[in-house]
Amino acid sequence: MGRPTLQKLLTYVSKVYGIGEKIKRAKDGRKDPDILASTICSILMLGCLWRMPSLNVLDQWVKFGRFKKLFPGVRLPRVDAVRESLSQYDLEPLQAMHDDTIRKAKRNKVFQQGTMKGRVVVALDGFELFESKVKECDACLTRVIDGETHYYHQGVACMTIGSDPHVILGIDHLHPRDEKDDDEGELTGGKRLIRNLYEQHHHFADVIVGDALYANAPFINDVRAIGMDAIVRVKNKRLNLVKDALGLFQKRDSDAQWTHEDPEPKGKQTKRKQKHIHVEAWDEEGFEMGGVPEPVRFLRFRETITQNMYQGKTVERVETIKEVWVVTTLGKHVPTKDVWEMIHERWDIENNGFRELKTKWHIHHCFMHHPRAIEAMVMFIMIAFNLFQLYTFRRVKDFWNKGMTLSFLIEEFRIDAVREDVPLYALLE
Ligand SMILES: [Zn+2]
Repeated sequence: MGRPTLQKLLTYVSKVYGIGEKIKRAKDGRKDPDILASTICSILMLGCLWRMPSLNVLDQWVKFGRFKKLFPGVRLPRVDAVRESLSQYDLEPLQAMHDDTIRKAKRNKVFQQGTMKGRVVVALDGFELFESKVKECDACLTRVIDGETHYYHQGVACMTIGSDPHVILGIDHLHPRDEKDDDEGELTGGKRLIRNLYEQHHHFADVIVGDALYANAPFINDVRAIGMDAIVRVKNKRLNLVKDALGLFQKRDSDAQWTHEDPEPKGKQTKRKQKHIHVEAWDEEGFEMGGVPEPVRFLRFRETITQNMYQGKTVERVETIKEVWVVTTLGKHVPTKDVWEMIHERWDIENNGFRELKTKWHIHHCFMHHPRAIEAMVMFIMIAFNLFQLYTFRRVKDFWNKGMTLSFLIEEFRIDAVREDVPLYALLE
C-alpha cells in the first residue's frame, strides 16, 4: 500500500467515486468565462481538502504556484473569478457529486458491518456557520441578544457515528421567514434533512441520534415512519413521560452497571485526558409519550466520571456526576449498554466527526457572504471531508499505527502538490 499521497487519493476518488468525470460537469452562471467552471471546481475542492482557512489563502496558493504542477499550462482563477463563480454556482452537479458518493459508498459496503454494534448509527447536529451585526444577505437568520439584532446562518448535519470512516450524509440550511414568523429552527431543518436523505437513499441508517431538541413527537413519528429508530436526549423534567419514568426508577436499584474507559484519542500519545466512567442505568419500556402512538423506552443513566485535571504540574483526580435521560424507539433486544454507547459516542468522544468538521475543516468560516456561495462552500467542504475519510480509512488502514495524525496527512497532501510532476487531469481520468 505504501505511503498515502495526494496522487493516490485523487486516483482513488476518481476510479472509485468518478470524481474526475463529475468535476467536468461543474457549472456556474458566468457568461463566456476565461476560466472553466471545472477548473474553479477542482481548485475549490483541493482548497477544502487542504483545509484552507479563507479564499485569500487559496488565492495565495494560486499566486505562488501551489497548483502549478497539478495544472500545467492551465490559466488559474484569482480570487475575483472564484468569488464571481461562487455567487452563481450551479449547486445541482455538486449535489449530484455528493449523493453519488454516498450511494457508491453504500454499494461498496462501507457501512455493511454497521458503524456501531452492527447498526448504522447517524446523528443530527445543528451548527452555526457565522454571525454578524449587519444583515448581509436575504438568507440571514435573525435573533435579538440584549436588545441588539444579530444576523447569522445555521445548518444541520447528519453524520455517521461510531467506527471510521465518518461520513456526512447531508447538510441542511435553515431558512428565514417573514417578519411575522420566527425563522426556521433546527428541528424543522433536521426533519427536512432526514426526509430528503430518505428520498435519495432510502434506508440510509438504522438509528438516528439527536439531542433534546428532537425529543418531539412528530420527529419520533417521522423516524418510525421511514422504518428507522430514534434515540433522543430528554432534558425537560416537566414531561409526563419523565415524571412517570423517574417515579418508577426511584423505587428500585439500577438495572445495570458497568465501567467504561475512554480509549486514548488516536494519534495522541498522552494519558492526560483519560476518563474513567462508572455508569448506573435504569431501563424500562412501555411508556406513553404524548403524540406518539406506540409506547417508547426510557433510560436513565447516572455517570460518575473520574478524570485527571492538570494545574500546572500537579495532577488531581476529579469526580463529577452526570445525569442523562434518553427516549428511544429501540426495543429491549438492544442492550442498555449499547444505547448508552451510542449516546456517549455522539457527545463525549474526542474522535468524533462533528468535532473534526467544526474544529479542523473551517466550516464556520464565512468564505463569502452570499446565499449561493455559502451553500456551495458547505457542499465543497462536505465532499472533501467525505472523500478524505473514505480514502484514509478504506485505503490507508494502518496510518494511525504508524503514528500519523489526520492533520499530518493533510499537510502531506499539501506538500505533494509541489513534490511531483503529476498533472491533475491525468489523475482524474
Ligand atoms: Zn446572510
